[in-house]
Amino acid sequence: MNIVVCLKQTPDTAKVKFDPATRTLSREGVENIMNPFDRQALEAALELKDAYGGKVTAVSMGLPMAADILKDALAMGADEAVLVSDKALAGSDTLATSTALAAAIKKIGAYDVILCGKQAVDGDTAQVGPEIAQHLRIPQLCNSLAITFADGQLVVKKENDYAALTLACAPPVLITVSKSEKEPRFASIKGKMKARKAVIPTWGIADLGLEPQQVGLSGSPTKVLKAFTPTPPEIHSEIIKEDDADEAVEKLFAKLTEAKIIKR
Ligand SMILES: Cc1cc2nc3c(=O)[nH]c(=O)nc-3n(C[C@H](O)[C@H](O)[C@H](O)COP(=O)(O)OP(=O)(O)OC[C@H]3O[C@@H](n4cnc5c(N)ncnc54)[C@H](O)[C@@H]3O)c2cc1C
Repeated sequence: MNIVVCLKQTPDTAKVKFDPATRTLSREGVENIMNPFDRQALEAALELKDAYGGKVTAVSMGLPMAADILKDALAMGADEAVLVSDKALAGSDTLATSTALAAAIKKIGAYDVILCGKQAVDGDTAQVGPEIAQHLRIPQLCNSLAITFADGQLVVKKENDYAALTLACAPPVLITVSKSEKEPRFASIKGKMKARKAVIPTWGIADLGLEPQQVGLSGSPTKVLKAFTPTPPEIHSEIIKEDDADEAVEKLFAKLTEAKIIKR
């Protein structure tokens, strides 16, 4: 089974802030990590490879430093990794990002399954996976919790607010992952050594057969107009202390009525 897994390098969003002037994430001094949902997708890819054999290729689009997460992927057990990096990609929205990633996946060659995370924790749109499927004209199954392969079909378990679902689809298929069945594995010593020596190929847009106007700001119909950290709401609290419980309740009712939270 040929498996491609898309990995995005994101800032650790627990520590990141918006820069209102540039309307971008202020990444200064913030550690970059593999998007947590992508780590789950990578684990799901490795579980498929362990169970059914095959090859896992990791692909990331980003700055040259995104090679770090690809090395992590190799250390965890991915067989190959490719970085898509080019100045022309700067400012790409989800359409431009998925255009570049779909072109890279085509160049990687035959694939049975493409795995993406459910969403990236910085952009948070959850659009890139489904858009890649659309570019490649293949079906998509979103928000997977477990993936198996039976009777020539990929079988995906997922849940929503109303039901637990089991869906099946013949390859090639794109699956977005909420959670892998097992916790993402740690890299082995052997894996770390292999990753340290690995030279990760970098493809620019010319290697992907793309024109500059298809990607980056010029290939991005959407723009982030405003981005800021919302001010937390002001919370006024008061403790009602009465010796008599009935009096305390009466006082509480009066306050809630006055604030128009309840009607008497
Ligand atoms: C605060 C903020 C808001 C934004 N809002 C929008 C918006 O509304 N519309 C819009 O078009 N753009 C938006 N962008 C730009 C958007 O983040 C980029 O286009 C980004 O490259 C992809 O979108 P995402 O981070 O939402 O990814 P998602 O669509 O949430 O990512 C889903 C999955 O796709 C894969 N993936 C995504 N990006 C990459 C990558 N670079 N390399 C490898 N795999 C990847 C991963 O598996 C990931 O888990 C926003 C950016 C920021 C910082």
